[in-house]
Amino acid sequence: MADAVTMDKIVSLCKRRGFVFPSSEIYGGLGSSYDYGHYGVLLKDNIKQRWLSAMVQERDDIVALDSSIILHPEVWKSSGHVGGFSDPLVDCKFCKKRYRADHLEDAQCGQRPSKRPGEAADCDLTDARQFNLMFETRVGAMEETGVPVYLRPETAQGIFINFKNVAGIARRKPPFGIAQVGKSFRNEITPGNFIFRTLEFEQMEMEFFVPPDQADEWYRYWVDERYAWHRKYGIRESHLRIRPHDADELSHYSSGTSDIEYLFPIGWSELEGVANRGNFDLTAHTAASGTKLEWVEQDGSRYTPHVIEPALGVNRSMLAFLVDAYDEEVVAERDRTVLRLHPQLAPVKAAILPLIGKSEDMTGRARKLYEELRQVISVEYDDGGQIGRRYRRQDEIGTPYALTIDEQTLEDGTVTIRERDSLAQERISIARAREHVLDRLAEPWTSPRVSSP
Ligand code: ATP
Repeated sequence: MADAVTMDKIVSLCKRRGFVFPSSEIYGGLGSSYDYGHYGVLLKDNIKQRWLSAMVQERDDIVALDSSIILHPEVWKSSGHVGGFSDPLVDCKFCKKRYRADHLEDAQCGQRPSKRPGEAADCDLTDARQFNLMFETRVGAMEETGVPVYLRPETAQGIFINFKNVAGIARRKPPFGIAQVGKSFRNEITPGNFIFRTLEFEQMEMEFFVPPDQADEWYRYWVDERYAWHRKYGIRESHLRIRPHDADELSHYSSGTSDIEYLFPIGWSELEGVANRGNFDLTAHTAASGTKLEWVEQDGSRYTPHVIEPALGVNRSMLAFLVDAYDEEVVAERDRTVLRLHPQLAPVKAAILPLIGKSEDMTGRARKLYEELRQVISVEYDDGGQIGRRYRRQDEIGTPYALTIDEQTLEDGTVTIRERDSLAQERISIARAREHVLDRLAEPWTSPRVSSP
């Protein structure tokens, strides 16, 4: 069976069900910017929680940090971003469109979308020029006297400049890591492909500081570990791969990088990057700030740790989970769209549905169950309209379980629990419903989706 999913279908589901809206829509929209609605916020939060849990809660060698978005401007000079964080751009003097010189193969000519830039007779492309991706702003009241600063293009530098603060009190010695989730900003000029590439986005980055002779080993460890995380939360093996960078692709700071790529509707693309940054950053900040960012052993010997960095975009991860989960099927001669999300990622874990919305006995029991479950998980109560329609609505937002209160509930205190993927229904006691749902949510899960060729 071929994949039913296209980017258009994902965009439309996200808008219809309130996951993601185009930003500033009433003003005509702003390119590569999106706003997140109720279910989008819940899904993003679940992704961040699962990441933080894997990094911090389930390990004892990583601590958390939340650094500022606006840092001292010298940070970005030392890190190499002022000088080197740029994309090569070309302009078409004829149609005035701007393209990334290294992405011309994938771009459309502004005049003739069937051709690539430079292919049509009228195209007049300039030579490539470097364009810095950092957004600049000013700190201070006056436009003229304010100090120019940057919105961070990555969260990592906030971690490096806090190395001494954290290492001093974290009671950890290398190998240990610092994890951070927060917004980053890049003045991207290539079309965004929905939330794949946006001007502002959240990153989940972890810098793992290791003795220099252990860097290779930990680099390989983190590539495998991060691959396994995406698999654990349901991404199909057929749609996930590891691609080591060629030497000419490596960033200025990196001695080894692997992209974990996902087969998005736009083709195989980077989902997460895992980089061996060596001691580039700590050395650069030590030289520029005069503060020694190094590790001092008990015996007084010292070294600058090397750093392994897994870096994942929350929004890009959300897109991969949505694409991987999106499914369409025909059930009882009716079309069904279903998000087969990992239950722990699903925005709503269970829907509580009184079969007959006008029956006060049923709505009363349902409300009571809803009040009980909402104390521990995200649940929704819905008593409006036909039951089939209510199920379909929950399928579309990926709710793994629906608990229906019916006549029999009033007689014997049982409810039906309907499972989103298999559509199997069984009766369980209402008194045990909370425990039952929590147990099932904790079980390992693999996607029931058929892999496309
Ligand atoms: P790309 O080549 O796609 O521009 P990158 O190699 O510049 O990405 P990194 O600097 O390695 O990206 O950033 C780490 C992660 O942050 C990426 O793997 C991606 O998940 C996410 N990310 C980077 N830029 C964006 C963006 N503009 N919008 C959304 N997510 C992003």
